[in-house]
Amino acid sequence: MLLHNIEELRKQRKEWQGLKVGLVPTMGALHEGHLSLIKKAKETCDRVVVSVFVNPIQFGPSEDFDKYPRTLDKDMELCNKEGVDIVFAPSPKEMYGEGSRLSNDTLTYVCPPFFYVNKLCGKTRTGHFDGVCTVVLKLFNIVQPDYAFFGQKDAQQVVIVKKMVKDLNVPVEIIQCPIVREESGLALSSRNKYLSEEGKKDALVLSGILNNIKACYNRGITDIKSLKETAYSFLTEKQDLEYLEILDRDTLEEQESADDNSIALIACRVEGVRLIDNIYLKG
Ligand code: AMP
Repeated sequence: MLLHNIEELRKQRKEWQGLKVGLVPTMGALHEGHLSLIKKAKETCDRVVVSVFVNPIQFGPSEDFDKYPRTLDKDMELCNKEGVDIVFAPSPKEMYGEGSRLSNDTLTYVCPPFFYVNKLCGKTRTGHFDGVCTVVLKLFNIVQPDYAFFGQKDAQQVVIVKKMVKDLNVPVEIIQCPIVREESGLALSSRNKYLSEEGKKDALVLSGILNNIKACYNRGITDIKSLKETAYSFLTEKQDLEYLEILDRDTLEEQESADDNSIALIACRVEGVRLIDNIYLKG
């Protein structure tokens, strides 16, 4: 069932009293990565809602909000195949009301702590995680799920959403699902659509660097500077490196040396497309 409107969603939700409800928040252009979250939700819950909403307030002014792929008919088909109960696809007006200026001048925002935001993607994407937390909390309030499913692909996002849920006592359990990759190793992303075939090959450097760091760690190298330096031989002028970090996977804290709880995270531009990936050094 496709719903665009909050009231209809609430009405349906009332009929699910006593059932375990799962929410999979997405921006659409669904691929196997999203479908893995949906499958996990189906396994865990009695009813599953997938939200499809390209959230304007998490995009910066020079980012790809206008050209972000929107493929609702195809998304509906995929969701129907997976047995999703409701696809919730509100308009920006339905979510944020009238008014052309969406900002914290006029809207209540959820602002996650600076410590979690001032690093990795948050460093260059100013306000991005405010936009993410705001829409995710709104979706939690609208759908009132027992479980919500997020991908490790956006590792910083999951840590920040878990922190918000804990700090604001939101009654939902966050389930993190592993990264789904193409056979080549490229992490699936809706933004891969922007890449040429050549660009997709150049993008393999991200997973290549991460796999190599993991292999080096598992051979006994724990010095973070040395692990990061293993990346440089992979990079060419085709990849514009934004960050490469090795941090604690739960807290995103810097570590003296890598350990079994470390995560390596990378962001690069390839053909102007911003790509992110990450890997746990153990497990
Ligand atoms: P998005 O539509 O990009 O906002 O993603 C919606 C959800 O799908 C987020 O929780 C993402 O982390 C997750 N996701 C995106 N790509 C992948 C992937 N390759 N593997 C697993 N989860 C993913």
